[in-house]
Amino acid sequence: MKEKNPRPQEKRSELTCAEVRSLLFAYLDQEVEERIIYQIEQHRTTCPNCTKVMRSYRLVIEYLRRTEEEEVPEEIHQRLLRLID
Ligand SMILES: [Zn+2]
Repeated sequence: MKEKNPRPQEKRSELTCAEVRSLLFAYLDQEVEERIIYQIEQHRTTCPNCTKVMRSYRLVIEYLRRTEEEEVPEEIHQRLLRLID
């Protein structure tokens, strides 16, 4: 692939909210590459909404660890999705 168009459009290194959202569980479980972690951290500094969502996800994950459940209960998942939109 040869792509050297210096088009100043979207910066490919920045994640959208939707992308961050889809990566959150992996991120909080530390199952993503460092590059992705960095990008999510970057996004978080500019997006209070995702920061809020991330905090909620973290609580859920802590809850799961404590209860030793393996999956997020559907109800909680739905609530999180609603929180995001
Ligand atoms: Zn965001």
